[in-house]
Amino acid sequence: RVVSAAPASPNEEAIERALRPKALDEYVGQARAREQLEIFIHAARGRAEALDHVLLFGPPGLGKTTLAHIVAAELGVNLRQTSGPVLEKPRDLAAILTNLEKNDVLFIDEIHRLSPVVEEILYPALEDYQIDIMIGDGPAARSIKLDLQPFTLVGATTRAGMLTNPLRDRFGIVARLEFYTAEELTRIVTRSAGLLKVEIDGAGALEVARRSRGTPRIANRLLRRVRDYAQVRADGRIDADIADKALALLDVDPLGFDVMDRKLLEAVIHRFDGGPVGLDNVAAAIGEEAGTIEDVIEPYLIQQGYLQRTPRGRIATLAAYRHLGLTPPQRAGG
Ligand code: ADP
Repeated sequence: RVVSAAPASPNEEAIERALRPKALDEYVGQARAREQLEIFIHAARGRAEALDHVLLFGPPGLGKTTLAHIVAAELGVNLRQTSGPVLEKPRDLAAILTNLEKNDVLFIDEIHRLSPVVEEILYPALEDYQIDIMIGDGPAARSIKLDLQPFTLVGATTRAGMLTNPLRDRFGIVARLEFYTAEELTRIVTRSAGLLKVEIDGAGALEVARRSRGTPRIANRLLRRVRDYAQVRADGRIDADIADKALALLDVDPLGFDVMDRKLLEAVIHRFDGGPVGLDNVAAAIGEEAGTIEDVIEPYLIQQGYLQRTPRGRIATLAAYRHLGLTPPQRAGG
């Protein structure tokens, strides 16, 4: 699937790293988050203090990891990167925390997946820059306090609602990343094309941008696939016509919806009379995990007005019927 959540391979990760903006003023869009961070970073640097802990949330591929790296770069400190599921034992996290230097950034991706015992040792670390660790075992075991250097935790998650309350309360700065506009994505595609040395005109960049589900990761991925098409089927240059043909071949429709998007809308309409239908039923009908639907597929469909989330379940809107070339029933549309 072209449009999945995470980077698909180590190779793609390397390309993503190369395309990542390195400074706040190269970071396109997200004006609110950017302005907040700019002010707080400036203030923290002026006082030579650690920045408050930062929570970034939003669907995959919107630039959370990129922003964490930029925060460290703008603060002029090191970044240590890990993720919730990788930290299995308290000592895994303790080892990282005790190695941080003054005011460093610790980036924990998928922070909602920290195990409760690991989360437990994070609280005093965040609050007082201290950890309690157990020495020895059995009756001789005792707990000692270790002082840490002041540091900034940058946590990333797809949904802020999945964090425990005590963890969420410890973030001084909370930024929600939004889907990008076509204009912003056009700038990102144009910049990436420059870095990849691909020739693309304005209309070509706009076509890729419009069909990228508001997501920079997808825009960069589609750009690379369109480049392949242009190289093999044309003279390597990308214009709107080449982009359109390549994207059609990739099953990315004129709105940027992919196979899974259409499958979900079709299931709600054909199998559940347009809804309302519960998430688990939709998941079973299309053979996708409920979590993936909630984090990756439906946020964009909801934001674009093709799907509604109600207390009684998901409903396909009139726009969804029209997009699929179907006649909406009288009562549909919610
Ligand atoms: P996330 O951590 O939210 O899943 P990433 O930070 O890994 O997303 O971003 C995915 C890709 O999208 C990166 O390669 C980066 O180049 C690009 N990207 C993300 N946000 C921006 C932005 N604001 N401006 C330019 N490129 C961006």
